[in-house]
Amino acid sequence: MRAGAGGAGPAQALRWPPMKARHCLQCGTLLAPFHDGERERLRCTSESCRWIFYGNPTPVVAALVEHEGHIVLVRNPGWPPKFYGLVTGFLEANETPEAGVLRELQEELGLEGEVASLIGVYSFEMRNEVIAAYHVRAHGTIVVGAELEDTKRVPPDKLRPWPGGTGLAVRDWLARRNG
Ligand SMILES: [Zn+2]
Repeated sequence: MRAGAGGAGPAQALRWPPMKARHCLQCGTLLAPFHDGERERLRCTSESCRWIFYGNPTPVVAALVEHEGHIVLVRNPGWPPKFYGLVTGFLEANETPEAGVLRELQEELGLEGEVASLIGVYSFEMRNEVIAAYHVRAHGTIVVGAELEDTKRVPPDKLRPWPGGTGLAVRDWLARRNG
């Protein structure tokens, strides 16, 4: 993953624009606020361009990884202290969410796996992301990826959801499992 995808981040409300976009991606001219009749956008100030920055949410995939009877949680640098979350990452171009989540599983934990189910799709407004969360069954030996700080294995009975982000997927998975 690139730093910061999914699940955790500074606890602040999203402020428009969600990214520090200042310049047009088409021509490099400065962007300026513009109201399109529905909502505030950023628009290129070049009259011959007028490219609009929509700031659409970025798709993120998340894996609730089941491995040898445990759930594997990961810790990314920059996450809040002591916070462990799901394996997450941004989708690549021309990649299905299912392929993306298995690629992240391989990159972060060195494991092969199969998608067992789609847990749900969650809006993570704080980071302007939409998270597709999957239950993934994994096998092999864990090799912790270079981008991770740490991992931990939690028995499913000891797994507790956290508020927001991928925690909602954990909550829903546990509810279905226990229901
Ligand atoms: Zn432009």
